[in-house]
Amino acid sequence: VAQPLITITEARDIVLAVAAHRLGEEDVEVEQALDRVLATDVVAAGDVPPFPCSAMDGYAILDGPAGRRLTVHGESRAGSPHEGSLQAETAIRISTGAAVPRDATAVIRQEDVVEHAGAIETTVATPSGANIRYAGEDMRAGALVLTAGTRLTPGGLGAAVAAGAGRVRVARRPRVAVMCTGDELRAPGEPLRPGEIHNSNGPMLTALAARCGALAGSATRLPDDRAVTEAALADALERADVVVVSGGVSVGPHDHVKPALAGLGVQERFWGVALQPGKPTWFGSLGDTLVFGLPGNPVSAVVTFTLFARPALAALQGETPGPAAGGAVLGQAVRRNPSRDQAIRVRLELHPDRTVAIPTGAQDSHLVTSLLGADALAIIPAGEGELAAGADVTLERIVS
Ligand code: AMP
Ligand code: MG
Repeated sequence: VAQPLITITEARDIVLAVAAHRLGEEDVEVEQALDRVLATDVVAAGDVPPFPCSAMDGYAILDGPAGRRLTVHGESRAGSPHEGSLQAETAIRISTGAAVPRDATAVIRQEDVVEHAGAIETTVATPSGANIRYAGEDMRAGALVLTAGTRLTPGGLGAAVAAGAGRVRVARRPRVAVMCTGDELRAPGEPLRPGEIHNSNGPMLTALAARCGALAGSATRLPDDRAVTEAALADALERADVVVVSGGVSVGPHDHVKPALAGLGVQERFWGVALQPGKPTWFGSLGDTLVFGLPGNPVSAVVTFTLFARPALAALQGETPGPAAGGAVLGQAVRRNPSRDQAIRVRLELHPDRTVAIPTGAQDSHLVTSLLGADALAIIPAGEGELAAGADVTLERIVS
């Protein structure tokens, strides 16, 4: 019996409806928070910069014309402010980032003075406020700096620290159990006997999960055996928030994943997507635990993880969705699939007026090399004939 296939969008909507609950939260040191999703807003504890400071190495003075001769009365260094005040005839040597002394209204750059022993002569007019960074220019005390749902980048960590944070409240990392089924699989680097292949999916899927903020450990390898599969899945369902199984989810006599999951009470949410590669994709849930049964072909596994598991992991962490990846024009004609949308791997060429998507080469689902150099997935809508070069395509971000 032909399986009714749902579209990519329908499948993703089902996944997001099931992944609507949030994982817990925890406080972590800012240093440990890269790529974590903020659970609460970060608000500036004080003004940043906290005090008026110099933008240049030079002299703190009163604003005024060129040609003044000023006596140097001390120094304000970064971290060691000058305690005294300033008069019309004096200057305080100052370094970039050092506090501007009381009463000073400008900083003149070192390059704009002639230095004498204990005195300077100004060679340029210095307007009020010249080379002074004012308190709160970057952040005002109480300002919203980062919103809950933001995934922390290196710049985000810097902003959080400047805002005064030592620890940040973030979503707990999803625990992902990756399981690779197949009697033919050998661990990376192991010699192959006849009929065997290396388990490419294990490291790829755990790496993809880690890039999505998950704790994935290493993949478990499973033989094509119903009882062993069921026992391993039962264990994974106990310890993981998301179980990702590769292979064994199709209709062959040695595909045990679906019956094993059914035996464990995992509720099927969909099976079969109008997608190439990735048609035999299975998704279900048991309580709050999500289960993805991804096709075994390495490219299919990566494409379906990207389209369906990644948004689930983002949602579980409360990540605010970013803007859509946008579109491109196809760099060369692509043969269409009459009944399924294709997600082809493309390299993007950025031109001033358009982005061109160029397929990375042959696109068959067993060609792991088609992932190399890919910047995005381009969606080729189902249809007859070919999609011509120059046609508009929508893009999906890939995890890289
Ligand atoms: P299956 O989905 O189990 O029918 O597998 C489909 C194809 O993907 C077969 O050619 C498998 O040998 C291959 N395959 C399955 N699992 C993996 C894996 N972990 N790494 C690389 N190839 C795999
Ligand atoms: Mg298999």
